[in-house]
Amino acid sequence: MTSNLEKTIERICQKYNNDRTLMMNVVSDVQAELKGLSDEAMDLIAQHLGTHRVEVESLVSFYAFYSEESTGKVVIRLCNDVIDQLRGVEHIAEAFEEALGVKMGETTPDGTITLEWTPCIGMCDQAPAALINDEVVTNLTSDKVRQIVSELKENPDPGKLHKELGDGNNSNELVNSMVRNNIRMSGPVILAPFRSGQALARALALHPAEVIRNVKTARLRGRGGAGFPTGMKWEFTRSAKGGQRYILCNADEGEPGTFKDRILLTEYPDLVFEGMTVGGYAIGADSGIVYLRAEYAYLRNFLECVLENRRNLGLLGKDIGGKKGFDFDIRIQMGAGSYVCGEETALISSCEGLRGDPKNRPPFPAQKGYMGCPTSVNNVETFCCVARIMEEGPGWFSQLGSEGSAGTKLLSIAGDCMRPGVYEIPFGTKLSEVLKLAGASDAIAVQIGGPSGQMIDPGQYDRTICYDDLATGGAMTVFGPGTDLLEVVEEYMDFFIEESCGYCTPCRVGNVLLKKAVAKIRDGKGQPGDLAYLEDLGNTVRMASRCGLGQTSANPVLSTLKNFSSLYESRLKDAKDGRQPGFSLASAVEGASEIAGRKSAHLN
Ligand code: SF4
Repeated sequence: MTSNLEKTIERICQKYNNDRTLMMNVVSDVQAELKGLSDEAMDLIAQHLGTHRVEVESLVSFYAFYSEESTGKVVIRLCNDVIDQLRGVEHIAEAFEEALGVKMGETTPDGTITLEWTPCIGMCDQAPAALINDEVVTNLTSDKVRQIVSELKENPDPGKLHKELGDGNNSNELVNSMVRNNIRMSGPVILAPFRSGQALARALALHPAEVIRNVKTARLRGRGGAGFPTGMKWEFTRSAKGGQRYILCNADEGEPGTFKDRILLTEYPDLVFEGMTVGGYAIGADSGIVYLRAEYAYLRNFLECVLENRRNLGLLGKDIGGKKGFDFDIRIQMGAGSYVCGEETALISSCEGLRGDPKNRPPFPAQKGYMGCPTSVNNVETFCCVARIMEEGPGWFSQLGSEGSAGTKLLSIAGDCMRPGVYEIPFGTKLSEVLKLAGASDAIAVQIGGPSGQMIDPGQYDRTICYDDLATGGAMTVFGPGTDLLEVVEEYMDFFIEESCGYCTPCRVGNVLLKKAVAKIRDGKGQPGDLAYLEDLGNTVRMASRCGLGQTSANPVLSTLKNFSSLYESRLKDAKDGRQPGFSLASAVEGASEIAGRKSAHLN
C-alpha cells in the first residue's frame, strides 16, 4: 500500500516533472509541507528524481532553510546581524524564549513553533527583524514579541500577523508585507520613472552586437561589488562556443547590511526584467533565471505576477516585440539560506539543483556556466542600469558619475544614523556627504561594502564612493560612539565561519583562528606578536581560498588592523616578565585531564 509520505513526495516530484535539476524546488516544497526531511523522504526524493540519496542529503545538509529534524509548523528565524545586535536583539531573543518557553534552536513541546537564529535577512533598515515562515516582522520590541507569540499560539498562521502594511508595493495583496521601502534619495538612473517596453524596443531595433557596444560605451560595470565591465562579460558569453546560452540575475543579496535589491524587486521589477530581456537578446539566450534569496520569498508571488503580465504584453515569450526568432522567458529559482550562493559559480550550482558549492575557474561561467553552457550572471541593479542605458542612450549614462565609474550607485545605509534606507547617489560622491544625508554626524567608523568590504575611520571620510576608491556592492553600515569595533570584527568573523562552505582549509579553519585571536586580544590576553600573526593569517586566508568568500573573509580583521590599529594596540599586554597573558595552563591541559579522568596535580 502507498503511504501518505510516498504520495506527497510523488506529487511534488511530478509537479517538477521529476527533473533532478529542479531538486531545490522539490526539497523546498517537501520542507514546507512536511516540516522536515526524514531519511525516508530523502530516499523517496532520490528515487523519483533518479539520483542518489547522497545527492539529496548533501543538498539538505548544505542549506540553512532545510532540516533533517522535524521543525514546528511555524519557524521563527530571528536575525542576528550586527545591526540587529546594536539594536538589542538579545532582549528580543529573551522575549521570544520567555513567551514560547523554549531556548533558541528548540521547538515548543506541542511541536508548533521552532525558534532559531538566522544571519542577515535584508532588513537592516528596520531592525530588529525576523522571518516567521515567509513573513517578515520588523522593528521588534519585547511587547511586539509577546503579542506575536500570543497570536501564533491562538492561530499558527503567520500570514495573519500584519496589522499594518508597508509602503508602495509592500501593500500589494500579493506581497502583503509590513516591510517599508525607506527610499531616502532618488536619482536619475535607477529610482526614476520608467516605461515598460521602451528600452526593449530600442534594443530590438539594434543588432545584438550593437546592444553590447552600447553597454560598453556607457562604461557600465557590475553593481554587485566586483565591478567587472558588463559589456565585456556579455561579449565573452555571446562569443563562447555552445548553442544554448543563459542569463542569470543574482538576487541573492546576503551581504549583511545590504538591502537595495529588495527595493528594486519590490518597486522596479519591470526594470529588472526588462534589463534581463535586453541581456538575453544581446548574448543570444532564450532563458533567464532570477535567483531569489529565500529571505525574500514574500516577494515571489508578486514577481511571478509581474512576469505573467509581461508575457501577456508580449514582452516575454515567443517573437518578443515582433522580432522573429527572439524567444525569451524568465523563471524564478528560490534559494534556501546560503550566503555563498551570492558567488556566481555557487549560484549556478544552486540553480542546477545542487549544493551551492563554488566551482573552480577557469572555465569561467561565460564559457561554461549553467548546465555547462555559456552564462552571464549579473546583479539586479546592473540589469536596471542596462534598461535605462537602452532607454536614454549610452552617452547620457556615461556622463553621469565620475571618470572611472559611470552612472549612479544605490547604497543601503543602516546602523547608527538618523535616516537609514536606500540612497541613489552619483559615483564620485564623498563619504562625508553621504553620511550627512543619512544623518550620521558622529560616526566613529563606517563599514563600506558589508563584512567583506573595509572599515573606514573618520580621517578618511573625504574619500569618494567609486570603483577606484571606496568600491561597494551597496552596503554601508555606520557605527556611532560607544561601539566596540573589535566586537563588530568578531561578529563579522562569526558570520563568515557560519557561511563558509568548508571546501578549502584556509577559509574553513583560518577564519576560526582569526576570530579566536581577535577574541583573545579583546579579552586582554593578547601580546604584541599577535598583530603580526593576525596579518599573516589574514593574508594567507585571502590568498589561498578558492572563492570570493574566503578571499574577502579576513577583511574585517585586515582593514581594522590597518585603519584602527590603536584599538588593538591599546588592549595588548607586553609580557615583560616573560609570562604569556594569553596562556592558560588550565585550558592547555583540559583535554589531557579529560582523557586521564583526573585533574593535574599542579593545578590542584
Ligand atoms: Fe568554500 Fe570558503 Fe573555499 Fe569559498 S573560500 S570554496 S566558501 S571554503
